[in-house]
Amino acid sequence: MPTPLIPKADLIEIFSSIQGEGTLVGIRQIFIRFPDCNLNCRYCDTDFLKSPTCLIESSSGSGELETVKNPFNFSRVKNLVTKWNSELPDAHHSISITGGEPLLHGEVLLSWLPELRKILPIYLETNGTLPDQLEVLIQHLDWVSMDIKLHSQTGLRTEWEIHRQFLKIANQTDCYVKLVVGEETPDLELQLAADLVSEVSKRIWIVLQPVTKTGQITLSTNRLLQMQALTSEIHSKVRVIPQTHRFMGVL
Ligand code: SF4
Repeated sequence: MPTPLIPKADLIEIFSSIQGEGTLVGIRQIFIRFPDCNLNCRYCDTDFLKSPTCLIESSSGSGELETVKNPFNFSRVKNLVTKWNSELPDAHHSISITGGEPLLHGEVLLSWLPELRKILPIYLETNGTLPDQLEVLIQHLDWVSMDIKLHSQTGLRTEWEIHRQFLKIANQTDCYVKLVVGEETPDLELQLAADLVSEVSKRIWIVLQPVTKTGQITLSTNRLLQMQALTSEIHSKVRVIPQTHRFMGVL
C-alpha cells in the first residue's frame, strides 16, 4: 500500500524557548508557530500573517533566526525536532503547537502530531473557539492551553457556548483556561468565566493573565487581588500569572 502523502505547511517560526504563560510556565519547549487566525483581538501583538518565508532558530536556544522558504516538508520539521531533542536530552518538556490559531491547520496537524508525539509530548495553545477541529485532534494532544476571550479585552463578542463546548473536549487532556484581564474587565465577565469552568470540571485551573504592555503589567495589584478573590469564590483553582517571557527577554 502506498504511504499516505504527508501535507506540507506554511509556518511562521520554529524555535526553542521557555514557556512564559500558564500553568506550565518555566518549562522548555520547542515552539512550532502556525499562521492565520479566526479572531482579531484588540490586544493582539502576535505576527501571524502567512508569508513566503519562515524563521527557524539556527540551533536550539541560540536565538539566531534563519529565514527559510515556505511551505515546510514534514520531514524537515521532524528532523529538526529530533536533532534538538537528542542534542539536549531531557531539556525539552514538550512541543508547543501555537499560532495564530493552529486549529485552522487541522489536516496538517492530524498528520504531523502522531509523528511528533513519538519524539515529545504535545502542548496546544489555542483561542478556544474551534471545538469541531479540536475534537478531531484531541487524541493526539497531552496539554491544552485555551483562552476564554473576554469582550472587555478583545473588543469581540465572547462566544460563551462555543468556549463551553471546547473546554468539555479539552478536558480529556491536562488543560487550563487563560483569561487575559485588564482594568476594563468587569466582575460579571469573571463570574461568567468561573461558572463555565466550574461547571465543566472543578479540577481545571483558571489563569488570570494581566495585560502586559511594553514590559509592564497595566493592572493595579489591588484590582488583580480583587479579581483573584472574586473568581476563587466560584472556582477554587485560580492562579495569577503574567507573561513572564516578556520579563526574561526570551523568544
Ligand atoms: S486569538 Fe490570539 S493570535 Fe488570534 S487575534 Fe486573538 S490574540 Fe491574536
